[in-house]
Amino acid sequence: MASELDLVIAGGGPAGVMAGLLFARAGCTVQVLEKHADFFRDFRGDTVHPSTLELLRELGLLDSFLKRPHDEVRTLTARVADRQITIADTSHLPVKSRFIALMPQWEFLDFLAQEARHYPTFSLRMEAEAADIVVENGRVAGVRLKDGEEVRARLTIAADGRSSVLRKKAGLPKKDLDAPIDVLWFRLPKEKTPTNMTGGTFGAGTFLVELDRGDYWQCAYVVPKGAAGEIRQNGLASFRASVAKAAPELASVVDTLQDWDQVKLLSVSLDRLTRWWRPGLLAIGDAAHAMSPVGGVGINLAIQDAVAAANILAGPLARGENVDPLLHEVQDRRMLPTRIVQAAQKTVHDRVLTPLVARKAVLDKAPLVLRLFDRFPVLRRIPARLVGLGVRREHIRSPDAGIRRPEIPPPSRPRGSSRSPRRTARS
Ligand SMILES: Cc1cc2nc3c(=O)[nH]c(=O)nc-3n(C[C@H](O)[C@H](O)[C@H](O)COP(=O)(O)OP(=O)(O)OC[C@H]3O[C@@H](n4cnc5c(N)ncnc54)[C@H](O)[C@@H]3O)c2cc1C
Repeated sequence: MASELDLVIAGGGPAGVMAGLLFARAGCTVQVLEKHADFFRDFRGDTVHPSTLELLRELGLLDSFLKRPHDEVRTLTARVADRQITIADTSHLPVKSRFIALMPQWEFLDFLAQEARHYPTFSLRMEAEAADIVVENGRVAGVRLKDGEEVRARLTIAADGRSSVLRKKAGLPKKDLDAPIDVLWFRLPKEKTPTNMTGGTFGAGTFLVELDRGDYWQCAYVVPKGAAGEIRQNGLASFRASVAKAAPELASVVDTLQDWDQVKLLSVSLDRLTRWWRPGLLAIGDAAHAMSPVGGVGINLAIQDAVAAANILAGPLARGENVDPLLHEVQDRRMLPTRIVQAAQKTVHDRVLTPLVARKAVLDKAPLVLRLFDRFPVLRRIPARLVGLGVRREHIRSPDAGIRRPEIPPPSRPRGSSRSPRRTARS
């Protein structure tokens, strides 16, 4: 058996890879296990918010990060009853990077993994699926892979996302907050514009988000939970017509949707664990609290969890101390922001999206709260601050053991890797 690690992390998403980087930087031996062979994950959002950009700056990584392909979004808009309203403006935030970086998630994860590889105690294993926890004397002592191999560690982090196997196996209690929506996810061609046009359109009984990815729109069409089957049964022509009706500027390109294979169903969930840990194991990111896409904050919350976990645990773990008595501190620190963001997401689900897409409400004029953003632009700073920086923002306080290696050659990119991969939705 290989010698025991300090830390094994199940899940190579934003939470897992960032935690891997920070714990390795502190001198811990870390292995991140990712069940997929690559980072292609076109379906889980591309928004790297100012709070995350600030963390990268604190780590001295911001400049190299911004060399990766990305777009910079400074305003978020909503179109209601043919009126375009700017609802958030990040240009006043008290940070260096006053914008949301729209970067394909595979690019972001590849960047973090590449940086983590500078630490000799870091390793990332692809196609390594955690299937169970290893328990010894009532304490979690690592994970068991699908093929039966045991990866033992002094601490296990479950960062395996919203369908986390490890949180189930660990018996951590979960509270469901119900998500009444699902998302149909597809792309449509567009001309590249000088400014990024990301925004959402509230139509007659519809809500469509258009993420501007340069030469194509990544579209998220919100539907009531469970309605996707009926939409498919009604046929692609009917779906194309609904999209064109929801966002008339897309009418000329909807015909590029020729096959249901181009339209992925993304199931949305909203839940959180009421206890994020048990001796030997800690859950972070979506494994601790599955986030809805509303506000596009899940990636950033997952990153903040990773930073908090490293701030509290990395130093003691690197020194060989028992970190079990500290695990609850991560939950204590991160529960408040989780509750606040999930409460806001639930409000939007129940008060805006359910009436709109389930009860087919027709908004013939923009609600007062949105009109106020037009009248008093200063109000746009409030959502910008909540979405861009969040609540109880983390800063890098975990130790740097000074073991960073000089430049290492990048690993060969997976075949087919490009800005617009052919593969899309997958979980
Ligand atoms: C439709 C949709 C759109 C979204 N859009 C946005 C957005 O625009 N911006 C935003 O900030 N958030 C968005 N979110 C939320 C965001 O995707 C999540 O909150 C975020 O990805 C959580 O990061 P994570 O690292 O905790 O989990 P994940 O990103 O889910 O990563 C978990 C990783 O673990 C791997 N894994 C799973 N099981 C195992 C296992 N047993 N063993 C090993 N590896 C495993 C998975 O392959 C995955 O790589 C969206 C969510 C949805 C559903």
